[in-house]
Amino acid sequence: MIIDVITIFPAMFETVPHYGVISDAFSSGNCVLNIYDLRDFTRDKHRKVDDRPYGGGPGMVLMAEPLDRAIRHIRKKNSIKDKDMQKTILLTPGGSVLKQDTLKSISQLQNLIIICGRYEGIDQRLVDLCVDMEISIGDYVLTGGEIPAMVIIDGIVRLMPGVVGKEESLRSESFEDGLLDWPQYTRPATYRGIKVPDVLTGGNHGDIEKWRKNRSEEITRERRPDLFDKSI
Ligand code: SAH
Repeated sequence: MIIDVITIFPAMFETVPHYGVISDAFSSGNCVLNIYDLRDFTRDKHRKVDDRPYGGGPGMVLMAEPLDRAIRHIRKKNSIKDKDMQKTILLTPGGSVLKQDTLKSISQLQNLIIICGRYEGIDQRLVDLCVDMEISIGDYVLTGGEIPAMVIIDGIVRLMPGVVGKEESLRSESFEDGLLDWPQYTRPATYRGIKVPDVLTGGNHGDIEKWRKNRSEEITRERRPDLFDKSI
């Protein structure tokens, strides 16, 4: 998979391919991350990417042309034959809220082009012309699309074959079956007077499985009744 990111702050992405289990996908070449500086696609000597909004009001808006040129450049360079395998996404608080299922479906693509907004956002004509999906990472407002882009990159690369050691650990995690994860414990067996639940040290796998399922259900019902209602 090729992930292309368009941003005015390319340096923010320098650490992304180098840490944790996702780094293997990048070092093995299974996944390629290209970061494009939006200013490289301007044509004036000030490398201007933004301008004032029509109709007035505060802030600045990213202009359509440099983004359009960047996207065209990337699409031409990648020359993906099956256009359904290539998507251009915009991070915006107005997009549909990111879910594990969204990550699963975009992790199947050959090429993902991610546009990071800044300021008040981007010219709507660019959205109408070039954007396939608008995604929000939650109901709050950040200063830019770079951190949301990193959320998406981490989430999809994690799903690629071989990235997370045991397939089983992907399946048992929060949201996979509509439930949140159960509580985890590790050594020592007693910490500051609190013992690990007996069932986990008892060695009966059937009981352990039952305990985990019950705890998952209880936690989901308590904290996320919306998820729980869907899972039954
Ligand atoms: N005027 C916009 C907010 C712009 S925030 C509005 O009210 O909707 C600046 C940029 O940060 C956005 O263009 C977007 O790329 C990014 N951003 C901020 N919050 C985000 C969120 N919750 N999800 C995804 N991107 C977000």
